[in-house]
Amino acid sequence: MNDDAAKRGVGEPVPLKTGSSIAPAADPDVIIVGAGSAGIAAARHLIAQGLTVTILEARARIGGRALTRSFKGHPLDLGAHWLHAGPINPLVKLGFERREPLRRAPVDGHFFVRGRPGSRAESAALDRAFAMADRAMTQAAKAHEDQAAAKVLPPMGPQGRRVAAIHGLVSGRPLEEVSLHDFPSMEYADNLFIAGGLGAYVARLGKDLPIQLEAPVRAIDWSGLGVRVETAAGTLRGKAVIVTTPMAVLQQDMIRFMPALPNAVQEAIHGFTQGVYEHVALHWPDSPFRGADRLASLTGTHRAPPGLLTCIDNTPFHFFELDRPAAAGFDGRDAHAPHRYARAVLAEHFGHRAIRNLTALHSTAWRNDPWSRASWAVVPPGLYPIRDTLKAPVGERIWFAGEALSRAQWGTAGGAWEEGERAAGEIVRSLAR
Ligand SMILES: Cc1cc2nc3c(=O)[nH]c(=O)nc-3n(C[C@H](O)[C@H](O)[C@H](O)COP(=O)(O)OP(=O)(O)OC[C@H]3O[C@@H](n4cnc5c(N)ncnc54)[C@H](O)[C@@H]3O)c2cc1C
Repeated sequence: MNDDAAKRGVGEPVPLKTGSSIAPAADPDVIIVGAGSAGIAAARHLIAQGLTVTILEARARIGGRALTRSFKGHPLDLGAHWLHAGPINPLVKLGFERREPLRRAPVDGHFFVRGRPGSRAESAALDRAFAMADRAMTQAAKAHEDQAAAKVLPPMGPQGRRVAAIHGLVSGRPLEEVSLHDFPSMEYADNLFIAGGLGAYVARLGKDLPIQLEAPVRAIDWSGLGVRVETAAGTLRGKAVIVTTPMAVLQQDMIRFMPALPNAVQEAIHGFTQGVYEHVALHWPDSPFRGADRLASLTGTHRAPPGLLTCIDNTPFHFFELDRPAAAGFDGRDAHAPHRYARAVLAEHFGHRAIRNLTALHSTAWRNDPWSRASWAVVPPGLYPIRDTLKAPVGERIWFAGEALSRAQWGTAGGAWEEGERAAGEIVRSLAR
């Protein structure tokens, strides 16, 4: 444990140093709203092409929903942690080029039934149920009109509820509320991790970019030539703007567009629902799990956590994941309610003795954070095209980017990065015309 962590005690996050020493330009070519993965990717691309850029960030830090904090001297991701879809994830490609400390995520996990290791037959039944669900959704998405992903799930026996719960967790909403056509478009396999945390990696990539922190954007005026962007810290002019703020923030009308955005764009923004996925970070030296970075599936009791990542980075830290129904139940309750819940669920599976030295350190609440309001954006049934609607620029001056626009990597830092680069590339071509 480092000295700082020791002084603050268990469970108190220690901020990592991030930020930039480059002064933002007053009248850049391109203004970028938001210094998360999409904003950082866009800025790097534009600067590499010789354009001037200013990033306006509402928070006092960069990284957005990728954030690493230190607990007991160990870096833990409070937002994005997995590098999903390795072969198509631009953060993986860049990570290998930069010789970042990437490691492949193990494919084998733990499977427990009522606190004892599941038998081979039980484990095979769960695998079969997953395969059936995936096949059913992929086939139905090709053949039918869009509908709720849950509607096409075949009867899957006792494992069906578990499969639906896990898919609901990674979707951010129960499958009844997720577009069938959108769901299977997501690439999820071949995952990696990065030592030191994904949030710290994204922050490294944003180092030395011209970023104005604590500058929430209030208005974007595109009535004349170029754009005027109004922040709490002053007004900037640029030729174009890239808006990377989460959809749930845009839905709150935190940014006024003058003139108003076209109806189709407004409808697309308001079409998304808030995906909810929250971590409860646990320190559990005596946990029954062995091996680094394994997913654990616990079944057979009244309550089964939809997600549990064990021995993160080969340490006693674990993530107990909360899906939307569980997280919503903690709104309006005290900050420790998720901690008690995680302990109670694990006690139900493994007994009270097994959790004697389990400490719940921190639970996230991205769904209530004014600058995110969700973990990611979800497409409800029937609204499949809205990700693509937002890819078209408005008046050749306003581009949208961020995880919500990615078709194959939605809800991920890699998808946000991909979309930031796409928007930046289109602006370079547009300004060259
Ligand atoms: C708990 C959790 C776990 C997750 N796990 C994973 C995972 O394992 N792997 C993965 O790839 N993804 C994961 N995700 C999703 C991933 O974090 C996001 O998809 C990604 O970080 C989004 O990047 P972005 O640039 O689109 O948005 P953000 O990172 O949210 O960036 C947008 C930025 O805009 C800023 N902003 C908002 N409003 C304004 C304003 N008015 N003015 C100026 N700035 C503003 C925000 O402060 C923020 O910095 C997880 C998310 C959560 C919450």
